[in-house]
Amino acid sequence: MSAAPAQPALDVLVVGGGQAGLAMGHHLGERGLRFSILDAGPQVGHVWRSRWDSLRLFTSGRYDSLPGLPFPADADTYPGKDEVADYLQAYVDEFELPLRQHTSATSLTRADDGSYLVKAGADAIETGQVVVATGPFQVPVVPPVSAQLPPVVHQLHSADYRRPAQLPPGRVLVVGAANSGCQIAEELSATHRVDLSVGRRLPTLPQRPLGRDIWWWATRLRLDRVTAESRLGRRLSGRDQNVGAGPRQLARGHGVTVRPRVAGVAGEEVSFADGTSAGYDVVVWATGFTTDDSWIDVPDSTDGSGRLRQRRGITPSPGLYTLGRIWQHTRGSALLGWVGDDAAFLAGQIAARAGRG
Ligand SMILES: Cc1cc2nc3c(=O)[nH]c(=O)nc-3n(C[C@H](O)[C@H](O)[C@H](O)COP(=O)(O)OP(=O)(O)OC[C@H]3O[C@@H](n4cnc5c(N)ncnc54)[C@H](O)[C@@H]3O)c2cc1C
Repeated sequence: MSAAPAQPALDVLVVGGGQAGLAMGHHLGERGLRFSILDAGPQVGHVWRSRWDSLRLFTSGRYDSLPGLPFPADADTYPGKDEVADYLQAYVDEFELPLRQHTSATSLTRADDGSYLVKAGADAIETGQVVVATGPFQVPVVPPVSAQLPPVVHQLHSADYRRPAQLPPGRVLVVGAANSGCQIAEELSATHRVDLSVGRRLPTLPQRPLGRDIWWWATRLRLDRVTAESRLGRRLSGRDQNVGAGPRQLARGHGVTVRPRVAGVAGEEVSFADGTSAGYDVVVWATGFTTDDSWIDVPDSTDGSGRLRQRRGITPSPGLYTLGRIWQHTRGSALLGWVGDDAAFLAGQIAARAGRG
């Protein structure tokens, strides 16, 4: 009698233990699947903890809960970033999620029998299925022009910004006027002379139009249900918005000088698209992030730029999924209050494939 092929010990491995990976874990646990969550970080919530001190969420407490555990804040308040990190730790404790920290997945391959092998340091983990939940704001992007600035200019990415006192005194240029750039420019305007370079003008929405949180309106108008593949979704996903103070409000209320796109570096000065230039002591690059899927070596699963191809989190490689990406399914896919919906959907797919549907 021939032995049946050995089954991997895990039905599914979740790579990444931020809010997306933890919400995934909750739904996998509910379905009785065998799973583990790997996370590269030193502590639960480390991504949130490492954001700048004064950061307040743009989603109110009503919209910050993961599945199964209410966020401990009043519905109409805007929690700080450490409150999110504490909540994520409470979430792990509440559901006794099997999370391994200090463990970075360095490669992912698929075996001939369709199972997956994840290497993490000295470990090689075999698993039937994999969820990549490594975060949508993973690798800071800094434009190449930064290399031309003279060494006397102190440069940092918004990912490394913590508080005004961390910066030397003098004149600051914040490059990028999406939410992070605008919030950092506003904070620095109290202690520094600040210019804000606007590459692309984004519509600016008040946080509380007519006294109600912007997400309250979005849910009432069912805009949070618009899917990435619908006509409206395709239009909305192409344009981000600022919530709160945009460049105009910063100029009027905080003395920030608004500049156009950075065109280059001329001598010691930064030059702008309108032909003006100025010298700065500090440049804060609020120029966004990208995802790093370079450790994934699964045929057909990535696109020309090396990023996982997915529709609603399902990649072309059977049993390989992603969770938490921007507009993965809806506008909320990368946000605390909505990532659980995508996790529930993927848990259903995973259970069906594992024969537990
Ligand atoms: C400045 C800022 C403000 C935001 N404000 C809000 C807000 O107000 N409300 C809201 O809902 N959302 C907000 N977001 C968006 C979103 O909620 C966060 O970015 C959130 O951190 C995303 O969670 P995640 O679990 O998908 O990814 P992350 O929090 O980035 O977690 C990913 C995890 O994966 C781990 N990891 C990465 N690579 C590997 C690997 N190879 N092996 C093992 N582990 C790995 C990392 O260590 C990390 O712990 C904000 C984002 C930013 C940048």
